[in-house]
Amino acid sequence: ALLLSLRRFNHHVSAQKQPTGLNAIVHQTRDASSAATNPSASSLVGKTIAVKDNIVTASQPTTAASKVLSGFTSPFDATVVKLLQDAGASIGSKASLDEFGMGSHSQTAFNSPVVSPFSRNGEPLSPGGSSGGSAVAVATGEAWAALGTDTGGSVRLPAAYCGVVGFKPSYGLLSRWGVIQYANSLDTVGVLAGNVVDAAKLFGVLNVYDKNDPTSVSDAVRQRLTGHGGSKRKGLRIGVPDEYNIEELTAPVRRAWKGTLSRLQKAGHTILPVSLPATRQALSAYYVLAPAEASSNLAKYDGIRYGNRTSGPDALPKEDLPLYAQTRGEGFGDEVRRRILLGAYALSSEAIDNYFIQAQKVRRLVQQDFDRVFAAQNPLLDSAEGHANDVVDFLITPTAPRLPPTLAELKRQTTVEGYMLDVFTVPASLAGLPALSVPVPLPEKARKDMDADDVQSVGMQVIGQYGSDEGVLELGRTLE
Ligand code: GLN
Repeated sequence: ALLLSLRRFNHHVSAQKQPTGLNAIVHQTRDASSAATNPSASSLVGKTIAVKDNIVTASQPTTAASKVLSGFTSPFDATVVKLLQDAGASIGSKASLDEFGMGSHSQTAFNSPVVSPFSRNGEPLSPGGSSGGSAVAVATGEAWAALGTDTGGSVRLPAAYCGVVGFKPSYGLLSRWGVIQYANSLDTVGVLAGNVVDAAKLFGVLNVYDKNDPTSVSDAVRQRLTGHGGSKRKGLRIGVPDEYNIEELTAPVRRAWKGTLSRLQKAGHTILPVSLPATRQALSAYYVLAPAEASSNLAKYDGIRYGNRTSGPDALPKEDLPLYAQTRGEGFGDEVRRRILLGAYALSSEAIDNYFIQAQKVRRLVQQDFDRVFAAQNPLLDSAEGHANDVVDFLITPTAPRLPPTLAELKRQTTVEGYMLDVFTVPASLAGLPALSVPVPLPEKARKDMDADDVQSVGMQVIGQYGSDEGVLELGRTLE
């Protein structure tokens, strides 16, 4: 049914609005076809894949949608790009994003904000972010699939908002070599595709050890992960976290969640309520940790080594500001500056104990919550932590508490209201767990009074124990 509605949708988009007006793609190469160097892995021959523009490519510029990197071209390809090319894929286009991946609506891109192909009463919708360009490229059929990055939800949220599949694998499985850092301990390369089978295929090509990435999981551990966390299709225990049943959940999302759970129950799975008490603090902890890491990672953009330097004679002090300060002042947008300031404050000697250290403790509690409810042991831990009474194989939650807002509604939203949208995606990021967003059709009742141009699906999230990526994808397939 989803494939059908996607097909209908693709047709609709091309008839109504040319994808070019949506600003999904920032650079495009005409002939990007690449010869498969490894015939045994030539499974992606003829497939066009869009790459989020914070992942470096030698044949096209990489800007992370920031003025500070305008004019920058990497001398090498990111490992994930190289793997796709070796498998025969053509990397034709670089997809837009929120500057450095900071945002949830892809509106902070330096060049131009990304627009969803969907609309409500004539008002364009948010494509979600920060991998909004990647999601729109897949939704409109401009690309067969796309790479994104997910630090706190940036693959899953735009996938949910654009009606496509978005998968964030376990932290450390996909190489970050050549991925421009936002918050290293959370940054994860993810994939977006029209269906779960295609997302799984892409994941399979990319899921290899990389010696260039110090956080890449070793081959020995990868072997232990095979079949980890359960991957059978029948008789699974599915957990529903109490703490995700929040007031902000809107009616259509709640209905879609209930509908999905009852379908799973009918298919022979058992639905169990579980409690993840640290969820309530997870979002606040994320918005301390991610900016703290960002403030450190972004210190290198000083106009000396990369990208765009302030104009005018080199190092001529303007208003007594040194070259690097002028470059940074001109090069970073408002949201990036806000994060750098927040992060630098959280790490300062007066605040570190109350903010950064506390947030690290919350992160550990969030990880322990998940370890307590999952039947499978966390393969990264030496000994099993205490288990809850009812243990589960996977968790099912909505990806976001509401359907995508219109771009006009966004303008009225405060910064903190914007951060709220990540409430369901951030916990799995803090714990490094695999999480998949699958579009499920909107329940009939919700669709009745809806605009025909509106997104007709709701993103459902499947979360699994660390390393249970295959099982998450397999269960996700049954939700389509
Ligand atoms: N919206 C979140 C943020 O702004 C997540 C971003 C991401 O995952 N890159 O930090």
